[in-house]
Amino acid sequence: MEYIADAIKIAIEEFAKLPGIGRKTAQRLVFFLIKRKPEELEALAQAIRSLKDRVRYCSVCYNLTETDPCGICSHPGRDARMICVVEEPNDVVAIEKTHEFKGVYHVLGGALSPLEGIGPDDLRIKELLQRLQGNVEEVIIATNANAEGEATAVYLSKLIKPMGIRITRIAHGVPVGGDLEFTDEVTLARALTGRTEM
Ligand code: ZN
Repeated sequence: MEYIADAIKIAIEEFAKLPGIGRKTAQRLVFFLIKRKPEELEALAQAIRSLKDRVRYCSVCYNLTETDPCGICSHPGRDARMICVVEEPNDVVAIEKTHEFKGVYHVLGGALSPLEGIGPDDLRIKELLQRLQGNVEEVIIATNANAEGEATAVYLSKLIKPMGIRITRIAHGVPVGGDLEFTDEVTLARALTGRTEM
């Protein structure tokens, strides 16, 4: 690619690292950006920089937030006795969109996956158990409906059941193998209300 300026080459390489962006798309994005006004590019650069400067994990639920504790954990209208366990911050967004859930969350940071070498210590399971020492009545497991999500749900259920806390799993209106974040709001709301005991 000697015929492409270095700065462009570097930008293409960076874009190509993003999920779902192949080399061709990366190239298209870069050539699109180069035609924009400097202030538009600066706004984009600033938005990217702010991700690391301003966003951090909530020290209670591990959702992404600019304030600690996050807006959900510190909201007086949310019921802290009900904890919905999800894999990623994306999943919190998906469930919040349903307006169906008035409890709080716990973001594990992934799911158990022996194949990828992700074990219990790599997820925020210890932190979840710690939270359960407080006044918690129900834990709703809303991990994804794939093999890893199911394994995680079963693992958590075995840990939590002996503590005498109600543990439920969201119903499988969520398509099998489906990621929560790609499930439509109506289906997800139904999955929440139709949750079953584990
Ligand atoms: Zn929080």
